[in-house]
Amino acid sequence: MARGAYHRLVGVRRGRSMGAVDVDRLPAFLADQAFEPGLTALVGGHVVGDGGRRAAERQTVLVRDGRVEAISATTDGAPDGAVIVDVAGMTVMAGLVDAHIHVSMLDDAGRGPRLAKGAEPLHPGVLGHLVGRTLRDLLRHGVTTIRDVGAHGDILLEARQAVRYGAFDAPRMLLSGRIVSATAPGARFFPGMYREADGPDDIRRAVREQIRSGADFVKIMSTGARSVELENPLPSQVTPAEMAAFTDEAHRQTYRTAAHCEGLAGSELAIEAGIDTVEHGFHLHERPDLLDRMAEHGTVLVPTLDFLHHVAESDAWTPELEAQGVSNLHHAQRTLDAARAAGVTIALGSDGVTAEGASRELRRLVEHGLPPPEALAAATLGGALALGIESAVGRLEPGLRADILVIDGDPTEDVEVVGRLERVALVLHNGRRVAGNLTCPA
Ligand SMILES: [Zn+2]
Repeated sequence: MARGAYHRLVGVRRGRSMGAVDVDRLPAFLADQAFEPGLTALVGGHVVGDGGRRAAERQTVLVRDGRVEAISATTDGAPDGAVIVDVAGMTVMAGLVDAHIHVSMLDDAGRGPRLAKGAEPLHPGVLGHLVGRTLRDLLRHGVTTIRDVGAHGDILLEARQAVRYGAFDAPRMLLSGRIVSATAPGARFFPGMYREADGPDDIRRAVREQIRSGADFVKIMSTGARSVELENPLPSQVTPAEMAAFTDEAHRQTYRTAAHCEGLAGSELAIEAGIDTVEHGFHLHERPDLLDRMAEHGTVLVPTLDFLHHVAESDAWTPELEAQGVSNLHHAQRTLDAARAAGVTIALGSDGVTAEGASRELRRLVEHGLPPPEALAAATLGGALALGIESAVGRLEPGLRADILVIDGDPTEDVEVVGRLERVALVLHNGRRVAGNLTCPA
């Protein structure tokens, strides 16, 4: 049966992507820390533009009340009353977005530190503090927005409320809540992370539950995972009707959707149903028509290369998963090449658990063929597009949130410098200084 006929039969319309969201209604923005009132001028820096290139040298970036107000030549001078921050010769760019992170997976099993035999067991609330540490570290690494795509329980929802009420500084957090999955082995491997649901009605209920608990978007396992030995990632794990119910329910309520996609069958279902971001998507090079469709609809690909290297190259995994990882890496390279050729938007996602993940993935993107400016674009605007919040972050532009990273060096030539903490001069989040080595009055 042709897909269109199928959709008419089950009563769902063929999926369309969601596009940008109303950021002021997103839980992530409602919980965001307040901006700092006032006027600051970052003077003399080289500004990175949309394409990840140095757009202009010796610029003054004016920040007022948490937003970028203007960008102009430094020779024009700064307005009276502005706090002047000298960033002469440094690179001024938008804060990084890690579009695929798992902050609460503190170790492979998600249970936090490995305790020596005989050590005191952890108190129940300790993991929340460790998550808080990672969130603060993300800011020190210039990551001002994250999209967490699967957490253990409600730990990140709790951390976000703590941030809202001033407990500590953290990046803006877009959260998936529980990952919607068919009844599947992965739910045994990642306790508290999945909401198993079977049949379109249960899938709808699962989506609604995530919205109820404060999710900013919803995620589904369209295929099994490469990190779970009992799952075969090649076939689709959900039916067409289940996938269509998932995107329909989320989009109707104006929430964006992400799908974990490895094999082609699940990738096809997700893209056909109008999914907004394809996570991993290793095999898409075998279906150029799907990549064309992604490019046409603005569906974003999050390649997550660094974690692929981890599975293929560390001996932490079972021999079978490691061998599968090697093959995945080969496919991922071909898909990255084909996706770029097709004009698909790429977003940086570390698929990691630490603050260093974003800068590692940035290096991986370059290692796998992206010129540094393109990799920087994936780490900023690409991420904002993946999250549907490009009206608020991802670029240095008047009116957008002043999430700004100042680097002592030129990442448009060499992205390595982004991962070196001693080169992170200044990090502003909503115009507020949250990290950086620069001695300045801001
Ligand atoms: Zn992941």
